[in-house]
Amino acid sequence: MAIAPGSSVQLDNGKSATVRVTFLGGLGEIGRNCACIEQDGRIMLLDCGLMFPEPEMLGIDLVLPDFTYLRDNADRIEGCIVTHGHEDHMGGLSYLLRELSFPIFGSRLTLALAKNRIEEAGLLGRTQLIPVADGERRRIGPFDCEFIPVTHSVPHGFATAFHTPQGIILHSGDFKIDLTPVDGRTTDLARIGAMGIEPGIRLLLSDSTNAEEPGHTASESSVGKVLRELFRVYAGRRIITACFASHIHRVQQIADAAIANGRVVATLGRSMAKNVALARDMGFLTIPDGSIVDIEQVASLDPARVCVISTGSQGEPMSALSLMAAGENKRLKLGDGDVVIISAHAIPGNEYSVNRVIDGLYRRGTEVVHSGMADVHVTGHAMAGELKTLLSVADPEFFIPVHGEFRHLTHHARLAMEMGVGEDNVLLAEDGDVVELTDKGLEFVGTVPSGYLYVDGIVGDVGHGVLRDRRVLADEGVIVVVVTVDATSGEVITGPEVITRGWVHAPEAEALLDEARQCVLDALERAVDNQVVEMESLKRQIRQTLGRFVNDRTKRRPMIVPVVMEA
Ligand SMILES: [Zn+2]
Ligand SMILES: [Zn+2]
Repeated sequence: MAIAPGSSVQLDNGKSATVRVTFLGGLGEIGRNCACIEQDGRIMLLDCGLMFPEPEMLGIDLVLPDFTYLRDNADRIEGCIVTHGHEDHMGGLSYLLRELSFPIFGSRLTLALAKNRIEEAGLLGRTQLIPVADGERRRIGPFDCEFIPVTHSVPHGFATAFHTPQGIILHSGDFKIDLTPVDGRTTDLARIGAMGIEPGIRLLLSDSTNAEEPGHTASESSVGKVLRELFRVYAGRRIITACFASHIHRVQQIADAAIANGRVVATLGRSMAKNVALARDMGFLTIPDGSIVDIEQVASLDPARVCVISTGSQGEPMSALSLMAAGENKRLKLGDGDVVIISAHAIPGNEYSVNRVIDGLYRRGTEVVHSGMADVHVTGHAMAGELKTLLSVADPEFFIPVHGEFRHLTHHARLAMEMGVGEDNVLLAEDGDVVELTDKGLEFVGTVPSGYLYVDGIVGDVGHGVLRDRRVLADEGVIVVVVTVDATSGEVITGPEVITRGWVHAPEAEALLDEARQCVLDALERAVDNQVVEMESLKRQIRQTLGRFVNDRTKRRPMIVPVVMEA
């Protein structure tokens, strides 16, 4: 398989017969999926997602793709196709729309989920939400796009086929091959197979998340059976369930199991309440009015007659489930006799938080059922067997694995070769790579900026420097030195005062702080002797001298912040 040479070459935009794919995110990580399909000088964005921060990204709320390439080519953007309603595919839109304006295409449900965030950001005026239907083929500018139903852990996702001058490019979207989905809407393998035969698929881009997992995923409807059984086992006890708020089919199955066992349901958590209301309104979720109650009523109901559907299956710190585990949820207090069913897997990186929540729940005396004990969850991403099925049915000339960490992409590339895609026709691309499809074949032609864009609160990009500072503060603490010097002579007038947080515990280290003060004073006196009076030089002196002292005495490297004032 070919790996990108890593060179950055000048891109020659606008050649009509060539088609280009630029990867801005999602290749080498799970999250911030974003790609550009380019043809006739125009750009179609395919997803614009966010990534949740890793634990070492201190204080960061979320991570976005680098939008430099899109900003630089703003006038060439035709629109954005959103494959499905997950944050890692659409969560970046409410940021990108601040700078750019373009229409968004997706299924009705996908657009309804996307609309929430865009509306909250006050950016609805900068876009047009254009629904597309299952199987629809639509021309958008020069792009001839076809939307093919796929099954996944949010309903109404699409694979997207681009009928280009260089043949069909098929993007799988996030998918699994579920033959018995809850809504009966299966992955349209027949259509993909038909395209694979006539006119043939030139390039396949496919979801790699579970490429390392052998076999096939279980059907979403298998979870329903397990849930019904659990509701029987725990008859007479109050049941609280947690799952992803966007997993409408899971919510449906929980509600069905509850209602079949004589219970009413209540939602807990803002996004759960919102999505349940939205999905019921749109007809994607069926819960009779008589079977749904307000969460405020739950405490007064017979525990055997109620089921709560909550957010927080990933142990998110401020989520409804975390608060319940900590005994701090104002709406619902858990205790002896309650049963919590966590109908989700911890996403890699969230295991610690989920474990802490489970511990907290046991401490409250509740019983906990999670995916390690019963089959209360199935994945939404195809495993190796299904990936091979898609490769076989699509029979592509070229293949690029997408959506996954590098290990997932590598395994998926191997699966493609096993399924008969030529070794030279499998490309292992990463974020920032640009590939070009021409009469001659598919090749890497350059790279574009693709680093992480860190978002903290409403601040757009806090940058690497800020993160580096936060890591130092977290690991080593900070020492602030405040001193006033004479503006002309540089002599110390007041201070230096040495204040620390996180270096040494001040009351017990008075002597050390005194020494530090003396050390700064000596340095400033030496500076005066050498006629160094310039502000920045004085600050540098303090930083160096005190840094050496602190390291010698404590083997630590806290951040040193000199505040030098002139009088
Ligand atoms: Zn995804
Ligand atoms: Zn997804």
